[in-house]
Formats: sequence, structure tokens, C-alpha cells
Amino acid sequence: MSSTSNLPIVALVGRPNVGKSTLFNRITKSRKALVDPTPGVTRDRHYERVVWENKAFILVDTGGIDDNPEDALVQHIRDQAMLAIEEADIVLFLMDGKQGLTPADWEVVDILRRTKKPVFHLVNKIDGPEVEMELLAQFYELGVEQLWSVSAEHSYGFRTLMDGLCASIKSDDVDIELPEGTVKVAFFGRPNVGKSSIINTILGEDRMVVSEISGTTRDSVDTMVTHGKYSYLFIDTAGIRKKGKTKEKLEKFSILKSLAAMARCDVAVVLIDADEGITEQDTKVIGYVLDEGRGLIVLVNKWDLLQDNKKRQEAVMMEVGRTLPFIGFAPILNVSALTGYGIKRLFPVIGSVFRQYSATFPTSALNRLLREAVEQHPPPIYKNKRLKFYYTSQVGTCPPKFVVMTNSYKGVHFSYERYLTNRFREGLGLDKVSIKLFFKDKSEQRGEKK
Ligand code: GDP
Ligand code: GDP
Repeated sequence: MSSTSNLPIVALVGRPNVGKSTLFNRITKSRKALVDPTPGVTRDRHYERVVWENKAFILVDTGGIDDNPEDALVQHIRDQAMLAIEEADIVLFLMDGKQGLTPADWEVVDILRRTKKPVFHLVNKIDGPEVEMELLAQFYELGVEQLWSVSAEHSYGFRTLMDGLCASIKSDDVDIELPEGTVKVAFFGRPNVGKSSIINTILGEDRMVVSEISGTTRDSVDTMVTHGKYSYLFIDTAGIRKKGKTKEKLEKFSILKSLAAMARCDVAVVLIDADEGITEQDTKVIGYVLDEGRGLIVLVNKWDLLQDNKKRQEAVMMEVGRTLPFIGFAPILNVSALTGYGIKRLFPVIGSVFRQYSATFPTSALNRLLREAVEQHPPPIYKNKRLKFYYTSQVGTCPPKFVVMTNSYKGVHFSYERYLTNRFREGLGLDKVSIKLFFKDKSEQRGEKK
């Protein structure tokens, strides 16, 4: 059985320089066990999954996400607050204890009063108990139920805050059990790219058994789809399918919802508009998919519009390939939600991406593969010593992750890492997903084990 639990979104809101990114780093830093050495595609990460004791959530710095430099300051923070109360589950509103209360703070607090969601009013830069009374005093004017004094930089009040935050996260959030092997699929793409049309076309196909799983968590509605002997969970499709007057607003504020869906899907299907070509926003979403390590399928939709234009067809596909050289592994399908062209291929492709994404391999086969790869292309000398690779094993799935023990991980150059990664992919038949190799020093591991 797998589960569909949704991670709550905790949004950081506040004026520039109040300490949002410092707090973001403090909260997220504490959770990294296995640090991924490959730099993320999105250089600047403004969201991160956090596990704190037995609670998990997605932390988002709304000051960094959706940043629009043209917004005036006050409008900008007002937008952040609106975004947070519409789409987040818990709001952490930061104020600056050193600077004191400002008119913009008053305004945001008023906006936040409109929501029933938990709001934590934080007074940051309270660096120790000796200044607490003095700095906190004026913030009582706001009349909020509780003020949390913290120091994002020096960690004063941090644990208390985290305990309070975690206590506000319900652990019994509905967690529906799914049939074994259910593939969780989420659809992404800019407004009007055809997400609802595609989903309607798929769900309208013959022999498709469809049931809504409403209220899986909060306001999301997932759709269970059974096709032959396979089950798929389409994540939060109702949110996409629901159309009407509110559309514009929903679409504008879709980024946090996308992150939540991203965090709990196995396969992300990203739609691109064939007629418009690939946009910056498309590459950004794909960057998020890669950072989250999800399976990826790209659909170039509205292919019917290019039906009689071979030149344009080629140009669009070239452009996609050129813009996204780092997703060579991801299947790219031309489809039309309107005519149904190419839609039938989608399920088999989702199936094979998922199989690879969740595949496991016996250690003996992996070691054989490593030995052969090293024999065929011996690693270079590093600091007068031959680089050695001792053994390997799989340390995770979704996507597949492997650790390779070496005598010096520092000596593993990018080009050799890429060589080994490619050999692993070929040898294991993992052509449709990204995989990760971690290199570790054998001596270090011994040290750790004690
Ligand atoms: P953001 O713009 O809200 O993301 O704010 P930053 O996290 O970039 O912080 C702005 C400035 O405030 C930086 O110079 C931080 O070093 C400083 N700062 C952040 N948190 C604290 C704190 O708890 N105490 C003190 N004294 N300074 C802080
Ligand atoms: P969403 O905002 O991503 O959910 O997009 P919609 O599904 O609402 O589609 C936006 C518009 O594009 C609608 O007018 C659709 O009829 C149109 N559309 C969607 N898919 C196709 C397609 O494959 N071909 C053409 N020509 N139009 C499409």
C-alpha cells in the first residue's frame, strides 16, 4: 500500500530584511541528511521539504518566490500575504524586532486576521533574553493572540517556535490507502496550455474507471483512475478542472499549490503549448520537477495547430531540446487534447517512467556493473594515487540513488562521474529517469560507524 498524504505548506511572509531567508536556512538546514552534491537547476531555492521530529511540511519563502521587482514594496508584501492565506496552510509572519513595528506590518496583520488558518506572528532579531522585554513591548499593540520572539540568526526561541509550529500540524491528516503500485501523477503547465482539456480527454476515454477522492487533505480533490490492471492517482485534478469566474485568480496564485502537488507525485507531466513554444515559466517548472527528483514527462500540446506545418513542428521540438538539454532522459510526446492525438501513448509512458523511477537492483548486479565500467575505462590518477572504487549499493528509489565507495571522493571528477552515471543508466535500463550517484570515502564511513 502506498499513501497519498499531503504535506502542509508553511509560508514565510514579511518585509525585506526582516530575516526570512535566515530563518528559512535555519529551519531547512537542520534536516539535510544526505547532501546532494549536484547543484539544483533552480539556483535559488525558495522552498524545501522539512522533517522536524515526526512532522513534515514544505517551507516556502514567499518573498523569494514569484518575485516581481516592479511591485511597489507595500503592494508586494500585500501580495505575499494574500498568496499565503489563499494557498498555504500555516503562515509565519516575520517582523523585525530591532527595527520595530512599521505601517506595512500593521497592514499585513490586518490581512492575516481574515484567515482561519494558523498564523504565527514572529518578532525576529530578538537575539537573547536580555533584550526580549524591551524589543517585544511595542508589538503587543497589534493585539494578536501570541507573539513568538525568535532569533533566526542566533537560534534564540527557535526550538519553542518549531515545537509550536509542529503542534499546529495535524498528524492525522487524512491519509487514504491506495492499491499497491498506484502511480501518483500530477499535471503542470501555464494557464491555458490545456491541462483541463487533457485531463478531460483522458478521463473520457473508454474503459476508464474514474472516482474522485475528495478531501484527501484540506481542499484538494484527487482522482483515482483505473486503466486495465493499473491504478493511477491524478493529484488535485479538481482544482485544475474546476473552471469559472475565479479562474484568473486561481491561476495567478498557482505556484504554491504546484509545489504541494510536486512534493507528493511520482510522475510530473508538464504541458507546453506547441503554438507558443517553450517559455521561461515552463523551464522553471521543469527545474522544480528535477529539484524534487520526480519522474518527468513533457507533453507538447495543441499539436493539431501545427498539423500541416512540418517546418514549425521541427522547429518547436528543436527549441524544446535546446532549451532543456539537461532533460535528455525525459519522454517528450506531441499530443492534442482537442483531437485526442497521442493521448493513448501517455499511459504506457507513465508506466515505464514509474517502473524505472521506483526500480530496485540487487547489490551483486550493481557491483558487477561497477567493476566492468571501471575496467573498461580506468579512473584517472588523483594526488599520485589511482582512484579506486570498492563497491556500490542502492541507497534509495524514486528516483534510484546509489552510493559508490571510493578511496577519495574528492578525486572523482565531473567527467568520470558522468561516465559512471551513464554506464549505470545503460546497464540498468534506466533511460527515462534521472539517477543519482553519491561518492563516499570508505575510510570516512568506517570512522562514522565506530
Ligand atoms: P529577508 O530579506 O527577510 O530574507 O532577510 P534576511 O534573512 O536576508 O536578513 C536580513 C538581515 O537581517 C541580514 O543581514 C541578517 O543577517 C539579519 N538577521 C536575520 N535574522 C537575524 C537575527 O535573528 N538577529 C539579527 N541580529 N540579525 C538578523
Ligand atoms: P488550462 O488552463 O491549462 O487548464 O487549459 P484549458 O484546458 O482550459 O485550455 C485552454 C484553451 O486551449 C481552451 O480554449 C482549449 O479549448 C484550448 N486547447 C486545449 N487543448 C488544445 C489542443 O490540443 N488543441 C487546440 N487547438 N486547443 C486546445
